Amino acid sequence: MTGAGPLRYRPHHFLCSLGFQGKGYSETFTANMSAIVMGRLRAPGGDETLIEVTGTADAICAPCPKRQGEGCEAGGKIARLDAAHAYVLNLAPGDRLTWGEAKARIRASVPAGSLRQLCAGCEWEPLGLCEAALAALHAEEG
Ligand code: SF4
Repeated sequence: MTGAGPLRYRPHHFLCSLGFQGKGYSETFTANMSAIVMGRLRAPGGDETLIEVTGTADAICAPCPKRQGEGCEAGGKIARLDAAHAYVLNLAPGDRLTWGEAKARIRASVPAGSLRQLCAGCEWEPLGLCEAALAALHAEEG
């Protein structure tokens, strides 16, 4: 899933990738997400990485211990996160955009301070790492 062709991302993983700081659900999950986020998106030229939106398990989910086929054992919570993020970022399955375009869309559509509501139910949200990354993205605007 991380080879040639666009990266496949479900809607809420755009913001998760912005906030990722090396924490995850298992060693293999974290290694895979690090390879994608640090190794591709945040690497030189990473803004050009093409991403295709999917409604099911994606490149981040692939080695997750909670994945069940194309679904997730936390299905209801994940569906709510995906629906909320898809709405605010105007994403639908099949859409293609670069990581740079995704960050621009996050800057335009997700105000700092909004993750408590947008990401309600996510176990990582209370840590504040994603909110800090969102604030940093807004600060980059100058
Ligand atoms: S708080 Fe959770 S759902 Fe929201 S961006 Fe962070 S990891 Fe993703």
